[in-house]
Amino acid sequence: MGISAFERIKLLLKNIEEKYNLYFCWLGLKKSDYTVLPIIATKEHIYEEYVKQMKLRWDDSPFGNAPVGMSIKTKQVQYSNNMQEDERFIPVLELLKKENFNSILSIPIIDDKYNVFGVFVAYSDKKDFFNEDIISQIQEDIYEIKEYIVKLFSSNITIDEKLNEYLKIVYDIITYINKGSSSNMDPKYLALDVLNELDKLLDADGSEIIIYDKTDNKLEFILASDLFLENFGMPSFDISKFGGLSPFVKHYMNIEHASNIDYEKDPYAQEFYIKRGLKFINFASINTNIYNKETSSILILTRKDKKYISEIELNILKLINQALFSAFVVRKYITDIGSLSMHLEEITTRDPLTGFYNRNMFEIFLEEELNKSILNRRSNSFSYILVDVDNFKYINDAYGYQFGDLVLKGIAEVLKSSLRSLDVIARIGGDEFGILMPDMKIQSAKIIMEHINEKLNKNPILVNGRKIRISLSAGISTYFQHDGESSENISSIKKNIKILAEGALANAKSHGKSSVVIANEKQHKTFLEPVYELISRALDEDLIEPAYQPILDLSTDKIFGFEALCRIKYNGNIIYPDQFIEEAESLGLINKIDLYMIEKSCKRLSPFKDYNLFVNISAKAFSDDSFFENLINIVKKYNMQNRLYVEITERESLSSFEKFDEVAKRLKYYGIEFVIDDFGSGYSSLLYLKFTKTNILKIDGVFVKNITNDRGDEAIVSGINFISKQLNVKTLAEFIEDENILEKLKHMGVDYGQGYYLGKPSFDLEKFIN
Ligand code: C2E
Ligand code: CA
Ligand code: CA
Repeated sequence: MGISAFERIKLLLKNIEEKYNLYFCWLGLKKSDYTVLPIIATKEHIYEEYVKQMKLRWDDSPFGNAPVGMSIKTKQVQYSNNMQEDERFIPVLELLKKENFNSILSIPIIDDKYNVFGVFVAYSDKKDFFNEDIISQIQEDIYEIKEYIVKLFSSNITIDEKLNEYLKIVYDIITYINKGSSSNMDPKYLALDVLNELDKLLDADGSEIIIYDKTDNKLEFILASDLFLENFGMPSFDISKFGGLSPFVKHYMNIEHASNIDYEKDPYAQEFYIKRGLKFINFASINTNIYNKETSSILILTRKDKKYISEIELNILKLINQALFSAFVVRKYITDIGSLSMHLEEITTRDPLTGFYNRNMFEIFLEEELNKSILNRRSNSFSYILVDVDNFKYINDAYGYQFGDLVLKGIAEVLKSSLRSLDVIARIGGDEFGILMPDMKIQSAKIIMEHINEKLNKNPILVNGRKIRISLSAGISTYFQHDGESSENISSIKKNIKILAEGALANAKSHGKSSVVIANEKQHKTFLEPVYELISRALDEDLIEPAYQPILDLSTDKIFGFEALCRIKYNGNIIYPDQFIEEAESLGLINKIDLYMIEKSCKRLSPFKDYNLFVNISAKAFSDDSFFENLINIVKKYNMQNRLYVEITERESLSSFEKFDEVAKRLKYYGIEFVIDDFGSGYSSLLYLKFTKTNILKIDGVFVKNITNDRGDEAIVSGINFISKQLNVKTLAEFIEDENILEKLKHMGVDYGQGYYLGKPSFDLEKFIN
């Protein structure tokens, strides 16, 4: 079915309209969020001004009970022969009067499975227009349309050639994002190709894309297609000609939207575009917050005549804009820094609120300092400090989070102004800061920290006219050179330093407010030992027990499978992974734990053939030659072929990508799939998708749990979801903590879900199954 399908349907609609002397007809698709998506109409201006303006629904609101909604709900033909007197139309009465609609007929379009697929809607400007006779004739006449529509939209893989063309463009852009970072191709050429392609596809007389940095009020990028230049008499593209943003662009950039605009009626379009002989504009714009910068992109298509483009095409235009935009953003950061790996780091380095480094970067700095100390065999040559704001919770509870954020900002300023420029400051948790002072003995660091506390005590932080007196607790540690220690176990030394500072901080906290504590040097070598003992015992004495958390298929609300999460049952207590997984990694015990977990959970789930099993492994598995052989043997032993999903965290897997690819192929043979866990951290992560060829991607719960109250996080989740879909990758969202989050994810079309709201991890597997 080609491009003509749309036009063919439109023609059929027009024929019906003429034959029955109707005033207007349109077709819409039923959507799962209780709305109706209009797709094709006979008269474009009515479509724009009427059909699209009223939010068509099939819920239980009064308007949802009007003929369109009722025909979807009842699967029966519905009509009203006196719309303007019909109470159900009160919400759209103005619009009805404007077009003088008086009678309406709505016929449900039903597929072979007896599901309502969409509606055919017809209007007359006469009252009492529809009767049994006309209705049954129209029903016969729209038979062909029904066939077409069902065919066209029921298989969502090959919708329509034209739509496929668009998706191809989107795909090309994504491929570029993946490759472009390593190749040196300027995204300008990609954008130019896309614009030229769009002109052809949409029969436009020129198009342009503009990217605008709202935070700095700066035009980031502007590019016009060949036709645009030709039609508007510009021999070549000259950015200076654009000076700044036209009022039109400024206005429409602020609405996240895709629309058709007739310049004659649009006050914003007139000034700028009229001079260029434009009659008509289609545009799509998006707004995104990236790394605390608000950036907008608008893609504008222009036409000399008035030719509307359909709703679906507009939406695709929006997607293309979004994809191009990502390409630019990725590129921008890459050219700034030079290489991809640096790029990945850069975008994950900073905390947006304070501008300080984040936890990841803090780790890297610690490692650097540590390397230097080890290399030079120096002790106590830097100070590693963990800082916690005293009673911060009360500030948040009393004044709210926004206020709390401002307090943190205030603290950040004090820290910054009190420390040297070579000191590294990081925000490593909600109210936790990390400070790394090179060339600073811990004894001196203690004095500096105490000074900061005095300062904070004397000068309360001023937020919204309120004086907030703050104090900090701090724990300090460093590296002491010991005989026989080599750089081989740097990660465990690092871990030691961290744990020591944590312990010191805990001590400081228990001393009450405002104290600074230095870790005891003697603790240095010994702390990992208890964890080592614990894990060894757990392995030997069968103390490791998987807890199972259900994963739902969001399209059916049925349980798709379970994730096995590791617990150690010890002396009547349950010990959670945050107490031992990282330690197990540095002690080299993680692979043993993981195989143990896999064996135990495979055995347990094996009889429940309808459910899949998700297990976690560490990236360390890739450096263990027998790990995957063992894994495959377990799968064979318990007949878990085609039911096992292995979760791995993205950051770690990329470094050994080739190996990953090789292993993934081998596992696929047994129907074992990789899932990328904790997927997120900006657009950059798109890269992993391409590389890893995974089937399921787990969106990091950190974003998911905030999607109902943070626009940025919502954009990230929907962006990841969208791009995944283009690449045929399924999405799984974790940390679904309430119903609103669940609904939103369903609405976005996320495939699977997991979280406390759907089921907490439990040893009792059967309780989920029965
Ligand atoms: P993860 O793979 O991201 O697992 C999800 C974590 O989120 C689990 O914590 C789970 O209990 C928790 N969680 C589930 N639903 C919600 C929710 O709605 N809200 C919130 N806030 N949290 C939720 P858990 O069990 O403490 O595991 C922590 C991490 O330890 C896991 O993160 C995983 O990275 C690691 N881990 C757990 N078991 C294993 C294992 O057997 N092997 C390895 N290598 N790592 C494991
Ligand atoms: Ca996991
Ligand atoms: Ca996670």
